[in-house]
Amino acid sequence: MDYQAPQDLLVNKVVLVTGAGDGIGRVAAKTFAQHGATLVLLGKTTAKLEQVYDEIQALGAPEPGIVPMDLARATSEEIGQLAAILQNTYGRLDGLLHNAAQLGARIPVEHYDINQWMTVMQVNFHATFMLSRLLLPLLRQSPAASLLFTSSSVGSAPKAYWGPYAVSKYALEGLAKLLAEELDNTSQIRVNIINPGATRTRMRAAAYPNENPALLKSAESLMPLYLYLMGDDSQAVNGETLTAS
Ligand code: NDP
Repeated sequence: MDYQAPQDLLVNKVVLVTGAGDGIGRVAAKTFAQHGATLVLLGKTTAKLEQVYDEIQALGAPEPGIVPMDLARATSEEIGQLAAILQNTYGRLDGLLHNAAQLGARIPVEHYDINQWMTVMQVNFHATFMLSRLLLPLLRQSPAASLLFTSSSVGSAPKAYWGPYAVSKYALEGLAKLLAEELDNTSQIRVNIINPGATRTRMRAAAYPNENPALLKSAESLMPLYLYLMGDDSQAVNGETLTAS
């Protein structure tokens, strides 16, 4: 996408990014901050979040918040507490990018370890559902909120051996489309799905160890699409799936 975001696109917006410590989420968080947003950085590894915090501070962007949270273990009580803290600190949420995900093993369903399956479903889908459900009241307080789900090509076309990663992305797409219908005309919240496509990150390298990463697009190159969907220029876009070229 050749969208040119104005430098002040996200000024006065509060945006939460999950999986903000690495990969696409890290670049998205920094890019949103560069365009004026106040970031809430949620992720598993505190040291990575602290590094992103420092990088955002160095940009002179608004001071971000850090939320260390392992989505494999997160309970609805914990997420409810987070919602209360965000309510007290910011009073609203203008953007929520569901980006964190776990790849899991790529083996036949027949052989999948049941506990591992549950963990991938918890991180990629159930935690995303709980965050959406419990942060909706905050999104409702924004004059124009963007709720973004990250899917994958295996979230709409089956690919053997992709196990709970694929199933969780199918479920996410279902949830996103359901919410887009429910919130259309009843809120100022738009709900869309982004498919980044093959991108040079740690997850991609784990999925395709024999691939030459130099041939893949960078997370930075995705940012025009991410900015478009997070900023008010996409206010009329709801229930869509956008794939990065
Ligand atoms: P990375 O593995 O590089 O980053 C994933 C992020 O999610 C990390 O910050 C990681 O935190 C976080 N995360 C993982 N597990 C948990 C957990 N239990 N609790 C909290 N945070 C967690 O992945 P990508 O950047 O490649 O992927 C980002 C999104 O894009 C994912 O939804 C992925 O499915 C999707 N995608 C990626 C593609 C690609 O080619 N890269 C293609 C299609 C879709 P930590 O580093 O602390 O573990």
